[in-house]
Order: sequence, then structure tokens, then C-alpha cells
Amino acid sequence: MQFDTAAEKLGLEDYLCDILKTPNRTVTVNFPVKMDDGTIKVFTGYRVQHNNARGPYKGGIRFSPHVDLDEVNALASWMTWKTAVVDIPFGGAKGGVACDPFELSEGELESLTRRFAYEISDIIGPHVDIPAPDINTNAQVMAWIVDTYSMGQRQDVFAVVTGKPLFLGGSEGRTEATGRGVVITAMEAVNDLGLQPEDLTAILQGYGNVGSNAARILDEEGVKVIGVSDISTALYDPEGLDLKDLEDYVSEHRLLEGYERAEHISPKEKLLEMEADILVPAAIENQITAENADSIKAKLVVEGANGPTTPEADRILYEKGVLVVPDILANAGGVTVSYFEWIQNIQREQWPYELVVSKLTDKMVSAYRTVRNLADEEGVDMRTAAYMIAIGKVAEAITTRGIFP
Ligand code: NAD
Repeated sequence: MQFDTAAEKLGLEDYLCDILKTPNRTVTVNFPVKMDDGTIKVFTGYRVQHNNARGPYKGGIRFSPHVDLDEVNALASWMTWKTAVVDIPFGGAKGGVACDPFELSEGELESLTRRFAYEISDIIGPHVDIPAPDINTNAQVMAWIVDTYSMGQRQDVFAVVTGKPLFLGGSEGRTEATGRGVVITAMEAVNDLGLQPEDLTAILQGYGNVGSNAARILDEEGVKVIGVSDISTALYDPEGLDLKDLEDYVSEHRLLEGYERAEHISPKEKLLEMEADILVPAAIENQITAENADSIKAKLVVEGANGPTTPEADRILYEKGVLVVPDILANAGGVTVSYFEWIQNIQREQWPYELVVSKLTDKMVSAYRTVRNLADEEGVDMRTAAYMIAIGKVAEAITTRGIFP
């Protein structure tokens, strides 16, 4: 629906719609992994390469029981639009393995990661398709992929993935990049709404990489963070949460469950509807729906997660006058710093943190302003404007390159 609305506005030819609505390549792999108790379990993994008209495929790998081909397909196309919105020379891809990483030992996780990396090693590469972390994957998982891929190539190929540990070709500022990008766009929106950060409160759903970093940086900007949630519970304190204390708690206990210095909201989904100026969904898909959109009190929704708002909910929010900064813009900070990491690997450079943050800020602000201006010109919401820009760029790349042979 999101694609169709923008494609219609652009008057896109049918054949371009057909190309852009389907991925270039989908790969499903089933592979065995030896478990600690000696048994052998078969896992299913996917890599979907949506489009590479603007550059090598790029997109994360997630480990989760919910992973299936439909989900990976949708996520891969979002990556194509995301790289186009922030104007970095990559296409879009995504991957995943259906598994529950919390039920795996460290050794089992490593074996699963290495075997999956081996299974997809023919279709990835530093100039072909560059994976990165996503839900339940991190710098350690990326290091295992680099090592596995490099073994096959008989040479070190650090640029095959991004989101690596700093001392193994990672970039300064990469871990926090998505959260920082969310806050950079949130601050632009706050400014557009004529508001001051110090007067505002925020609630975040999801306290993983994106949510926890966005919370910390919002706090640094002066916004009072009054609610956060994760898979286990939702915490609320109208006086503002002690984020340092919360970070320490989560690094020790992994989850927010059991934290005693804030009220627990039940069911945890109710947190989305609590009084706050800014709402940052930073967990999973389909969290703001036709059922709860009308009860959302925030003036500003900044989508840290991919696809947290359903199209019906989007319409309800728009009609209520809620400003929604769409996922393909708001959470593009991660892939932007991934691009910086890739450049640093290719050029054998290590940029200082300040340079990464300043380049990220330039990219995000410029992308935000371009989307905002088009939204105003066309009288559409920011999501439609972001899609129009992204689809327009990819379509132009396809038509200019021409159809092979
Ligand atoms: P993560 O695994 O680090 O964190 C996910 C968080 O969401 C965890 O705190 C988890 O407990 C919580 N969660 C899961 N289900 C929930 C539920 N039903 N209610 C409340 N909380 C729930 O993952 P992440 O990397 O922070 O990714 C979060 C979202 O952001 C995903 O949609 C991902 O695709 C998107 N994203 C991530 C990046 C990145 O760089 N990590 C970049 C762009 C987009």
C-alpha cells in the first residue's frame, strides 16, 4: 500500500512497478547445526536481495523465531528505500535465521552463524551484498561472519559486513548510529513543530540497540524520557527515568523485568497510549494499529523500528495531526554509518567519532529536509514523500542503466 500510493503519485510505469515490487533474488537455506548435547538440529535461513540498481545490496541479518520469507522480503525492500532516502550508494537486502538465540549457548550461536554465513557466502561480498546486525545479532555475530567468509576467500575481507567490533574494522559511532539518527530526525521535527526539547517528554517501545541509544541521546538533548518497554515489561515514571541506572540494570539482567525504581505498566502495550509528546516505537513491526492509533497521545511519532505502524493506523494518525517521521528516514542512521564503516574498510582508514557524528548529522538533516519539503509541496504525509523520493531515485537508476541484455 505504501509503495502503491507513492508510485501512483509519481506516475510510475507498470514495468517499473513490477521490478520494484519483487525482489531480484530470494535464497532459502536449510542447514544442520551440531548442538552442545550432541544432537543435530536443522535451521532455516534466508537472504533476500531486493534491488541493486543504485549499488551493492545492503541489509541486516536477524535471528528470531518469527523470521520467515515474507518478513525478510518486506524488510529487504525497506532497505532499498532507506538507502535511497539518505542517498547512499547501496541497494537493499535482508537476511535472517528462524531460531531463538536465547535458547542457544554461545557455542551453538557461533556454529549457527558460521554455517549460515557459509551457506550464503556465494551471494554476499564487499561489492555484492554487505550484511549488518539487526534484531538479536551484534558485533560478535558480524565478527564470526567476517572470519567465516574470509576463510573461504583465503584473505581477510572486513568490508563483507558492517557493524563489526571497533578493533576488527568497525566504525566509531556505529553501535549508537540508528538511535542517534532517530534523535537527529526527532529534533528536526521538534523544531518544525515550534517546540523546545526541554519542554518535552518521550516514551520508547523497545530497549535494545535502537531504543536504549535513542533514549540516552534524547535525554542528552534535554527531552525527559518517562517510559520505556521491552519484551518483558513496560516502565513508566512521569518524573523521568534514571537512564544510567536502567542501562546498568539491563546490562546485568538483560531485561527490564524486575526493575524496582519505576512503575510497571500492564499490559505493556498500554505504554504506547500514555501521555507523552514523543513516541518512539523501536521494537518490532505492527505495533501502532487501527486498534490503538486513536488512543496515541503523542504529537510526534519517530519510527525507530521498521514497519511499526500499519497503513490504517498511519491514516488515523495523519488525520489526528500527529507528525510521523517514517522508518525509512528515521532509522536510516544505522545504514548510513554502515556505509561510513564500509568506506573506512575499503580505504583502510579509521575516522574519529566526532567526524562520524558530524557526517551522520549532515546526511540525516539533509534527508529529513528533502522529505519535509516534498511533503509540504505535494500536501502529503512524510511517509508518502519519503517513498516518492526513494522510488523515484531507484526507478531513475533502473531506466538510466537500461534493461539487460
Ligand atoms: P534489539 O534486539 O537490540 O532490541 C529489540 C528490543 O525490542 C528489545 O528490547 C526487545 O525486548 C524489544 N521487544 C521485542 N518485542 C517487543 C514487544 N512486543 N514489546 C516491547 N518490546 C519488545 O533490536 P534493535 O536492533 O534495537 O532493532 C529494533 C528495531 O529497529 C527493529 O525493527 C529493527 O529492524 C529496527 N532497526 C534496527 C537497526 C539497527 O541498527 N540495529 C537499524 C534500523 C532499524
